[in-house]
Amino acid sequence: MGTPRHHLARAPHAPRGRRPARGPQRARGRTRVLLTVAGLAGAAWVALRLAPAGWIDGAWVRALLPAQAAVGAALAGAVPWSWSAVSLVAAMLALIAAALAGRPRPWWALLVATLALAGASFEVAWGLGYRRAPLEARLALPATAPTAGELRGAIARVTAIAIGAAPADPSTLDADAPWPGQAWDAAAACVAAADAVASGRQAPVPLASAVRRVPAGALLAGGFGGFVGPWWREPHLDAALPPAAALATGLHELTHGVGWAREAETDALGTLAGLACPDREVRFAASVHALALLRAELARATAGVAPAGVEPPVPAEVARADAALREVLARYVRPRWRSAVGSTYDGYLRAQGLSAGLADYERAGVLVAAALGRCSDHPDAPLCPGG
Ligand SMILES: [Zn+2]
Repeated sequence: MGTPRHHLARAPHAPRGRRPARGPQRARGRTRVLLTVAGLAGAAWVALRLAPAGWIDGAWVRALLPAQAAVGAALAGAVPWSWSAVSLVAAMLALIAAALAGRPRPWWALLVATLALAGASFEVAWGLGYRRAPLEARLALPATAPTAGELRGAIARVTAIAIGAAPADPSTLDADAPWPGQAWDAAAACVAAADAVASGRQAPVPLASAVRRVPAGALLAGGFGGFVGPWWREPHLDAALPPAAALATGLHELTHGVGWAREAETDALGTLAGLACPDREVRFAASVHALALLRAELARATAGVAPAGVEPPVPAEVARADAALREVLARYVRPRWRSAVGSTYDGYLRAQGLSAGLADYERAGVLVAAALGRCSDHPDAPLCPGG
């Protein structure tokens, strides 16, 4: 029993006694949970960064990576949209909503836990690929740089592949020609088979051939034609790429998709996979890209030196495909934006242990020449076209 006055007197005390006590307790509880998650994820992150090479080339390459790729391939093949875009937008909206609502309190603990989880899962999904055994070690390629003569030999071999695979109708190579159709499936199968050889797998890694088209110019403005989301491993390509360049970039992104992270090795393995592919369109696209890599490497190797040999002329179809790519680059690349994107990616690659940064891409020609160089004497060597 009590008087109204008594109620009035007690009323302020009862809520004060419960609410203020429960609110901070709940917040402290949530903070403890979030910081525990952050601590565990952070410890896992550090452990993964320090993971021994044997474990990466064993457990990660042989078991964890194929399992992750199988899930990614099943999901990517099931829907027409980009999982990378959906998850990025969802994560950003969730963080913004949590910050605006002030829940769960404190939001900074949520941010720390999210970043730690993202860092640890990035290492498992992608980052370990920067520390796996190099492609040249896997294929036992020579450690010395190819000579100008070896580069010319590789150019002659790839030129023959380009001539043999050139389309009957060269207008299909123009910038506005339709993209390849079933060639994507062939490209995915050839990349998975080449990776099985290079990684020493019994069975190829499951790989979806689904390609996400990004609006024309959205990627090319920054100077790149495609990317793969680290967690989902879906290839994304700029819709403005002409057919052969789209397929060659697709080979590169699919090779990222099977677990190769370093750029030169990814580019070389994807190109070698394409050169040896039974599909004519894939072979031609890979040969156009390989010739660009090899000619650039030959120019570097012979800079300031009197020409000591002659390489075969560029086939007309290859010149047409190159012209289509140049036209698209001239239309879409924004030099300042490309410079900013390039500097950012250069810093990222250096942080992942690639001391050359963006210049690592240039090593692809050396690797392709070294792999092809063995094919004359050893046509059955790994990844030899027609071998
Ligand atoms: Zn790449």
